[in-house]
Amino acid sequence: MSYEVSCPSCGSAVIFAFDASIIRVCSSCRSLLVRDGARIENVGLVAELVSTPSLLRLGETGSYQGDAFQIVGRVQVEHPAGLWDEWRIAFSDGRLGWLAESLGRRHLLLDVDPGDLPAFSQCRPGERIRGRSAMMVIDVGVATVKTLEGELPQDLRPGETWNYADLAGPKGAFATIDFGDGEAARAMYLGRAATLEQLGLGHLGREAGFAKAAAQALQCPECRGALTLRLPDLSKRVACPYCGTLLAVEGSLQAIEAADKQNKLSFEPAFKLGAKARLDGVTWVVLGAMERSSGPSDYTRYSWREYLLHEPIRGFRWLVEDRGHWTVVDNAHAGDLEMGTKRRFGGQTFRHFVSSEARVDSLVGEFPWAVTRGEITQAADYIAPPLILSEESTATEFNLSLGRYIESADVAQAFGIAAPALPRKEGVHAAQPNPYQGRVGPLWLWFLALSAVLVVIFLFSATRSRTVFQTTVRLPPGAVSGSPQAVFISEPFQVTGSGNVRVKVYAPLDNSWLYLDGTLANTKAEAVGDFEMEAGFYRGADQDGAWSEGSGEAVAFLGGVPPGEYTLRLAPQWGVVGRSKRVLKDFQVEVRRGVPRASYLLIALVLIFLWPAWVTSRSSSFETARWSESDHAGS
Ligand SMILES: [Zn+2]
Ligand SMILES: [Zn+2]
Repeated sequence: MSYEVSCPSCGSAVIFAFDASIIRVCSSCRSLLVRDGARIENVGLVAELVSTPSLLRLGETGSYQGDAFQIVGRVQVEHPAGLWDEWRIAFSDGRLGWLAESLGRRHLLLDVDPGDLPAFSQCRPGERIRGRSAMMVIDVGVATVKTLEGELPQDLRPGETWNYADLAGPKGAFATIDFGDGEAARAMYLGRAATLEQLGLGHLGREAGFAKAAAQALQCPECRGALTLRLPDLSKRVACPYCGTLLAVEGSLQAIEAADKQNKLSFEPAFKLGAKARLDGVTWVVLGAMERSSGPSDYTRYSWREYLLHEPIRGFRWLVEDRGHWTVVDNAHAGDLEMGTKRRFGGQTFRHFVSSEARVDSLVGEFPWAVTRGEITQAADYIAPPLILSEESTATEFNLSLGRYIESADVAQAFGIAAPALPRKEGVHAAQPNPYQGRVGPLWLWFLALSAVLVVIFLFSATRSRTVFQTTVRLPPGAVSGSPQAVFISEPFQVTGSGNVRVKVYAPLDNSWLYLDGTLANTKAEAVGDFEMEAGFYRGADQDGAWSEGSGEAVAFLGGVPPGEYTLRLAPQWGVVGRSKRVLKDFQVEVRRGVPRASYLLIALVLIFLWPAWVTSRSSSFETARWSESDHAGS
């Protein structure tokens, strides 16, 4: 039942549209009216609303999980990180909730029974609270009512403060606990992040109108330089690009820190403020840049650069440059983080890479939160290339972000600049995908398969080889080594089939040697192949004991021998060493067709082994280079 009264201050008609409403701001004179039964009390004027980039309006209707709601009131709340709009909503079934907007993101939260909750001082960022399905504390602080409009079901006055803890739970759950001005929870609001599209609010026309919101031209109070505020409604800090002074944006610019004039900026930003980048299908604008570093001392610090990008509908994201390597970094929902020595997030397992204290060293441009130079956060990075999960915490906040490695060529293309204009890549980045990783396993499988095929071919051809001639050659008694009398010429024999021809001899040698100068000749008198072979067997004894080397066996291979009738001619030379008395009388000779050569098989196996072995070694040295920058180098 709506309830209409005249404003005690200006006489305008004021309507309390909801039974539950206790306070209402007169839309004509901004008097705050408090209802107590039929009595209306004017408790004084409230401040004008602060201009914010909100797309919402009082009275607007939307729906959440199929239930219709209406926006009934708005509270502008000052948090440590900035001024946020919190819209009070009423559902048609009487339930109440909040639609909170911060940094371009929205959460719809319903009033729930706080139940058994820890005390305010027990809520530590990065830790989970008992009960409430293990929600993680991500932010604690004190909030202050700046001003309000519309009607509200609770008595809130400008200047009123309360302790709060923000929580993130699994699957996008989000909650805020209101501790009043003490330790005990007095209210809890539970819900999740939601987009305007999901809520049926904030029409695209207004989105476009906001996207065109004019940048604001200002003058640096320190150096009189011309500054452009691209997000005048959101930015909390501006670092002057001319004098380096860090300025607070509170309606007018106030200087809060003057930088060392000799050393304004510790780095040369890769992009100009206001530069546009086309990434993931939308156009982002560079709002600010900062250099951060970590390390044990000022002389051994490791630094990287972060560029803050903004897009009206998608909000904020970072582009991070570290030794010429780039990552695109977005906020991630901490409630979905599974702790442990390895972190689990979004179905992926991340391995710890490095923990450090990260410090803001130098900055330029505008930032939507109260950033300070020298600000320190505890940071820990976990990797699952090409992804990198970063946890950053302070005494009051726990922030989770998810970065994705992006090639510098893609960064250059996004900004429409030439790749050499970007910093040169050095080393391997924590999140850089290993270019060899996916190839190692399949290559070894190919190696095994190919080796098996080669061995089968070898064994198969071995079964196909045939002996085509075999005899024992007797040296004529009294024949002299190398003399024509010693020459052996075989009877003609048939060489059938295909493949090579192997000539093998065996001589019973003992501290003696046999050398053969051979010819395999076609009986049609076409010489087919000459070969030489030598066998020698030596033995003896020295201070290390008995020794022997060589053997009585020798082989020669002839390739490209066509089938036909052949004779074998062997011209032998032989001799002894030392005092050997053994005289060579005969030796055996065998001619075999189609003998597979084990040495060829071995060479082939070694050659096909080289490729997977090389890729494996490249892959492993890539990983060594990656981990050399981590806390786990050398392990
Ligand atoms: Zn009034
Ligand atoms: Zn300046």
